[in-house]
Amino acid sequence: MSLEALLAPRSIAILGASDRPSIGRALVESLDRLGFDGEVIPINPKYPELFGRRCYPAVDDLPRTPDVVAFCVSYARVLDGLKQAARKGARGAVIYDGGFAERGDDGKALQAEVTGICREAGIALNGPNCMGVLNPVRNSTTYMQEVRDESRLRGSVGLISQSGSICIGMLADVRRFGYTHVISSGNEAVVTLVDYLDELIAEPETKVIALFIESVRDPERFVAALDRAADCGKPVVVLKVGRSARTRSAITSHTGGLAGESRVFSEVLRSHRAIEVDDLDTFTEVLAVCQGSVLPAGERLGVVTASGGQAELILDVAEQCGLSLPALPDGIRADAERVIGPLTGDGNPLDAWGNGDFRTNFSHALASLDANPQCDAVVLCTDAFDDNPMGRPERALDYAGFIVDAAQKSRKAHFVMGMRPGIMSTAQLDLLRQHGLAAVGGSRQGLGAIAQVANWATLLASIMLARPVAGGGVAALLAAGKRASIHEADAKKVLAAQGMPVTREAVVQTVDEAVVVAKEAIGYPIVLKAVSDHIAHKSEHGLVIVDVRDEAALREAWRALEDRTRAAAASEHVAGFLVQEMVSGGIEVFAGVTRDPDFGLMFAFGLGGVAIEVLKEFALRALPLRQGDAQAMIAGTKGAALLAGARAREPYDLESLVACIEAFGAFAYAEREHIEEIDLNPIIVLPAGRGCRIVDALIVPRPAA
Ligand code: ADP
Ligand code: MG
Repeated sequence: MSLEALLAPRSIAILGASDRPSIGRALVESLDRLGFDGEVIPINPKYPELFGRRCYPAVDDLPRTPDVVAFCVSYARVLDGLKQAARKGARGAVIYDGGFAERGDDGKALQAEVTGICREAGIALNGPNCMGVLNPVRNSTTYMQEVRDESRLRGSVGLISQSGSICIGMLADVRRFGYTHVISSGNEAVVTLVDYLDELIAEPETKVIALFIESVRDPERFVAALDRAADCGKPVVVLKVGRSARTRSAITSHTGGLAGESRVFSEVLRSHRAIEVDDLDTFTEVLAVCQGSVLPAGERLGVVTASGGQAELILDVAEQCGLSLPALPDGIRADAERVIGPLTGDGNPLDAWGNGDFRTNFSHALASLDANPQCDAVVLCTDAFDDNPMGRPERALDYAGFIVDAAQKSRKAHFVMGMRPGIMSTAQLDLLRQHGLAAVGGSRQGLGAIAQVANWATLLASIMLARPVAGGGVAALLAAGKRASIHEADAKKVLAAQGMPVTREAVVQTVDEAVVVAKEAIGYPIVLKAVSDHIAHKSEHGLVIVDVRDEAALREAWRALEDRTRAAAASEHVAGFLVQEMVSGGIEVFAGVTRDPDFGLMFAFGLGGVAIEVLKEFALRALPLRQGDAQAMIAGTKGAALLAGARAREPYDLESLVACIEAFGAFAYAEREHIEEIDLNPIIVLPAGRGCRIVDALIVPRPAA
């Protein structure tokens, strides 16, 4: 279904047009103000003529087919008009009124009828229960608020919002950025958020996409669209509300218990390289940062301030935002001091007030920071306000001029930052906008937004971890028949085939066999376990006996395991007993994947064993993993310091753990169609140089669809 008639209509029929204050009248006035050069067709049986245009009694009476019909009538009168629009061959419609799926069973039935008519006739419907579509680039609108000043509406942001009031809020201030589209999607009876998103990704004028989301109806298409946007370097900024935990079906593994997390959506956004924000302040600032014709290439900033106090504030806030402010190198510093006077601290933030002329000083300060190869972007702090009662407000333009000049001589991103949110000078912003420069406001919001966009830019360039599966993978294990889960010994064989480090071990059927294997193949001490597809957690049934030191102990352990399998009524399911190398002197971590009902496999990593379920202290990622994810997950886990060798203890083999996590992530991603859950719990990480061992593994295959 093409959305063109809806998003960029050439003719707009207004059903329920009126000269009384109403949506119908607002639309006509907006279209005139925007200078819409297509056809505007009022429909209302009460008038022969409206706003100097011929007015028709009904859609049926129109002499030509309109691209879009705007339904400025109550929900009760929608069906009749929609049927006429279908007969006429209209390709787009907007229904503003509520009274549909959001209102009880009758409403749902009405909406279903609306959907049916539109699908059959190929009508792209916006809404119902929405505010319409504004397209300032084509000067068209079916957006129900009246356009009062069109001068700054046009821009490069494509906004899709499931809430109308967010559109109102975002459109209330267009000083820093305008829009290609503002789309209020409403109940999405026909056209959904993802459909709109697809269009905006493909549209060249839209440079950045803003999404306000309450719920995602088709998660698979949604993430595919995010991938497309990332592939063409278009930032998608997402504000998602209503993140309560979701329910989940049966859970077998430890990792399984972690799904349904509200964190899942955030991780999905991250791994599909969208920018997530959690309030409107950040939403706005991130969109503002994206207005720059150059985006920040990294998280190292050079900042120019007008005072030492400001400089200290910036230092504190920047650090909290994850930005770094590299010191000014000696040569550059000496040169700066020659012009500006003595600098304090590291020379970054650079307090440019100094001696003499502020013009010379600020321009020189900007050039100095730009000259530092360690800086990825340059920020000028200055406060300017339209109605400033004090000082010399006209200087706002001087400061803007400094940064415009500086940016023109540089390839780095440059920003103006006000120290308080919302305090801005329109004249200054206009000048910056003309030159493709972005302004942010509020030190925390502004620096935070720069950090987020810089982080996104880094992520955009990161490499996905992928490798082919060796040895037939999980499917090979299921060749002989379905299995509800795959026990430790078999699971590890598959992992070992991928080059992952598993314990040395052998499955045996008799105690005499065990004695031989323990002595000749593995070496004491050993661990003896019973393995079964039907026992997910062996130690709950006493089926793991560690630190078996000699033959006598092994024979005793064997008897104990036999008794316990009988007690667990599991003996007929036991595939055998496992004689396994005992791994000691290491630290236990776990890694696992689990299937989120909407977004597919999620990867979890944490320290310790069962405690994770209680503490929920684990790092989460959506698959596929990217380069750097493994290190970041380890670093993001509480207790990471233990692994790195805290308190004078020797460090553990992080390198081998990273390799293991990456191999596991790549394997799980490659096998995603065959897997429901995998638990590697524990992986024991040995001291540096000695590697790590997967000590226990459980694979739950995906039930055939
Ligand atoms: P479960 O099915 O109960 O998770 P595991 O195989 O993970 O069984 O064993 C339970 C615990 O016993 C592990 O968390 C670990 O602490 C210890 N353990 C198991 N196998 C070994 C081994 N080969 N070396 C050292 N410790 C082990
Ligand atoms: Mg275990």
